[in-house]
Amino acid sequence: MYVKGIGPRLAEMLAAKGIESVEDLLYYLPFRYEDRVNPRTIGELQSGEMASIIAEVRTAMLFRTKRMPIFEVTFGQGRSTLKGIWFHGTYLKDKFKPGQLVALYGKVEKSTRGRGSLQVIQPQYEILANPNEAYQSDGDAARLEKEAERRVEESLEIGRIVPIYESAANQKLTSRWFRGAIFRALQNLSQQIGDGIPRTVAERVELMDRREAFNRVHFPPAGESFAQLQSARTPAHVRLIFEELFFLEVGLELKRKRLRARPGISFKLDERVRGAIKKFLPFHPTAAQKRVLKEIADDMLHPAPMRRLLQGDVGSGKTIVALQAAVIAIENGYQAALMAPTEILATQHYLAARRMLEPCGYRVVLLTGSLEQDRKREIRRYIAQGNAHLVIGTHALIEEKVEFAKIGLVVVDEQHRFGVMQRFKLMKKGATEPDVLVMTATPIPRTLALTLYGDLDTSVLDELPPGRTAITTRRVSDERAEEVWAFVRKQIKAGHQAYVVYPVIEAVEQESEWPDMEADASKKGRSKMGLKAAVAMYDELRKKIFPDLRIGLLHGKLDSDEKDAIMRRFQRGEIDLLVSTTVIEVGVDVPNATIMVVEHAERFGLAQLHQLRGRIGRGAAKSYCILMTDSTAKLSPEAERRLDEMVRTQNGFEIAELDLELRGPGEFFGTRQAGMPELRVANLLRDREILEIAKREAAGVVAGSDPAVSQEEKVTLMDHLKRHWQRRYGLVEVG
Ligand code: ADP
Ligand code: MG
Repeated sequence: MYVKGIGPRLAEMLAAKGIESVEDLLYYLPFRYEDRVNPRTIGELQSGEMASIIAEVRTAMLFRTKRMPIFEVTFGQGRSTLKGIWFHGTYLKDKFKPGQLVALYGKVEKSTRGRGSLQVIQPQYEILANPNEAYQSDGDAARLEKEAERRVEESLEIGRIVPIYESAANQKLTSRWFRGAIFRALQNLSQQIGDGIPRTVAERVELMDRREAFNRVHFPPAGESFAQLQSARTPAHVRLIFEELFFLEVGLELKRKRLRARPGISFKLDERVRGAIKKFLPFHPTAAQKRVLKEIADDMLHPAPMRRLLQGDVGSGKTIVALQAAVIAIENGYQAALMAPTEILATQHYLAARRMLEPCGYRVVLLTGSLEQDRKREIRRYIAQGNAHLVIGTHALIEEKVEFAKIGLVVVDEQHRFGVMQRFKLMKKGATEPDVLVMTATPIPRTLALTLYGDLDTSVLDELPPGRTAITTRRVSDERAEEVWAFVRKQIKAGHQAYVVYPVIEAVEQESEWPDMEADASKKGRSKMGLKAAVAMYDELRKKIFPDLRIGLLHGKLDSDEKDAIMRRFQRGEIDLLVSTTVIEVGVDVPNATIMVVEHAERFGLAQLHQLRGRIGRGAAKSYCILMTDSTAKLSPEAERRLDEMVRTQNGFEIAELDLELRGPGEFFGTRQAGMPELRVANLLRDREILEIAKREAAGVVAGSDPAVSQEEKVTLMDHLKRHWQRRYGLVEVG
């Protein structure tokens, strides 16, 4: 770090924010701007608006109310005043003094006291000047210098559009501090700073000069559109966003190109093989299944290793397509592997695969953690000797411990878990690389697919197998549980099966810390926190509500033998009603199950509810999903929205887009995953259009299809990519 005034201690605080170089600092963009050219006068403020105001401190006081300390400051401009209120504001006691000039930003509202007077609750603030800061000239050189510095700083604070930065290091590095540091960094920036974007691209997209973009994004010139600033759409913003997405896409394109150059297998698809992939099918594939299989088969015929992502909503029939691909590999003399995220799923795939493939003479094996050691060893030997054609198991097991005689195709069933494709250890084992097909049941919004999976080809199964009827979804309060149970009973009496899902397995222990909640424990089946849990409700349903029915219980704490046994009984129709947690959300396939009740539906995420609901509506009979909400709790607006959307639509892509909007890209994939790029300027929700352009330009440059891009520019670009972007995106070879 070579900015004046940044020593090792500061450097450390900045590093914690990911700022390790001047360049990083320059990419630390303001998250909003304040118009302090024309700050609002208190007189013109309207209740309900967000406003920035520059005013003077008149009085500052700490009140102690019964519930909490409140800090109240009266700000004034001439005769108008405005109150600033901070709850629990004791820490502000020594901050504000009468006479200070302060910039405030917050929501204006009518004061609860004083008629017609206004207040701002918990405003963001900056102290612009202290009354005793007025300088008296005495010719002291050091003080003169200080005064000059203060003037510069002042000019960064008032009379302009002021950038507001997220503070760092626990408020030690304030927005104001960043303003000063970034201002100095910009002043010291050399006239010519590197720019890896080829000139023709910059011209075509009409990009602003890089250095100027930095200047203007941090310190917008007078006259810059305030609306554009707030929505990150000034030419300066667009330039920096494009740049970030362009290099990301170039990196992904290069990865894709390198992969294409590696030696893979060129499978044959002659009449015999064509016959084989049709022969084992118990039904006619849908048009979408045929189309997708063709896309996969084309990849398999091509010598480059396949890296394809198959997206298909729950129940769209991905497994069949995967098995067809496996048969192509097997008929070519190779082995295939199918990796599932859970044992339940691996077992289910195994049973289905055996049913279809064994009659045609293919040998299918199952490898799961719960097998006896001896048995595992035996199966591994069988695989190593090339006797097993199709190996099915959990991700971990197949990846880590299996030697294949001749692996040709790996199918990864990720359902809605991600990150697996970052580490195909399997592929390193053979001389030539196997083809890889990743299946996911989470529809991935296009923007995310372009960034996260930009190096994969994608296929979409967008048609459900015939005979499915739409699922009817209703939300009801659990006050109406009796009606719901009566309906469930009717369905079961008609020969169907049901799921009842709970958010937790059992009451958690910490609950005893909540003495007021004890009262709720008296409610049937509820934990002390008022949450109905699977184990307790299983007893309740079995003994009180459905004593005449066969009830099963499935949850993550059972060992896998128990889980398997329960699932198998449910599959065979020996259990009428399965009480479960979200363990069933992953791919379980029992077409006779036509009813699902989700209790505490308000507690589940949108993607989760969609996956859960995907367990029903898998056969020809009409299915019902009942989202029961807790009548003792007030639902958040987001929960209301989630439930309403679930009732409104069954379209996985729509649900995924909305989920992304409600949760943001980071949360969308659960925790931040490796492979999910951390963008610092671009925002995938906001910047879709720029992303599309960046992708197109990046593809053109990498493919070499733009003759105007010189060899020299390509070298510069690669150099830029390596020096500035590699570290952040980890655009290194991962397979
Ligand atoms: P996914 O893995 O996409 O959730 P599956 O492959 O498990 O879906 O298929 C869901 C159900 O639909 C299974 O019972 C499967 O046998 C059935 N199925 C798949 N394709 C067809 C088809 N073309 N016609 C009829 N049923 C199908
Ligand atoms: Mg499946």
